[in-house]
Amino acid sequence: MSLRIGLGFDSHAFEKGIPLVLGGLKIDHPEGFAGHSDGDLLLHAITDALLGAVSAGDIGTFFPPTDPKWKGADSTVFLKTALEEIALVGFKIVNIDCVLIMHRPKIVPLAGEMRERVADLLGIDVNNVSIKGKTPEGLPQDGTAVAHVVVLLESIGPPSELKKLAVHAEVPDEAEVDAALAAVSEPLNLSALGRKLPAFDTDDLT
Ligand code: MG
Repeated sequence: MSLRIGLGFDSHAFEKGIPLVLGGLKIDHPEGFAGHSDGDLLLHAITDALLGAVSAGDIGTFFPPTDPKWKGADSTVFLKTALEEIALVGFKIVNIDCVLIMHRPKIVPLAGEMRERVADLLGIDVNNVSIKGKTPEGLPQDGTAVAHVVVLLESIGPPSELKKLAVHAEVPDEAEVDAALAAVSEPLNLSALGRKLPAFDTDDLT
């Protein structure tokens, strides 16, 4: 089994009079997060952690804030793209741990529903999603919310499992089976993920 770890970070300023979207939930609150998209800094940090785990750049690489197409975008779109990227190179999520740092709203009363929502978006069990809330004691960030995320990935299905399946399949020739197994046994070239990407643009304002 192969493991990969990813780290994500994001921050957004509060803005009065706009909807607050956090962890894919719409939360009743007098302020939302300013941003080019819906400002969901938790989903942005998770997206960056997933992309980082497979060396695929960051959210700004895929969804440039200069592109008007992403104005007001639902951040679940960004997350789905990151999930596709990790699946593309044969990985799935083991667990995810998140820290939200903000004075308001209080995270503890929201954490249960937020974990359920994030687990649903990621397609994993809620027991593998941790969301913790901290107040920024001593930090000059009264008007800003911050998210930190760590994700662990594992490779999907070792070749030995494929071989068991192949034994029971109707295949004409064992040499073809061996050739197919050799192909999937080759180390994944994660750097190939750069195929559709320019140099990393970390000027992320999403
Ligand atoms: Mg963001």
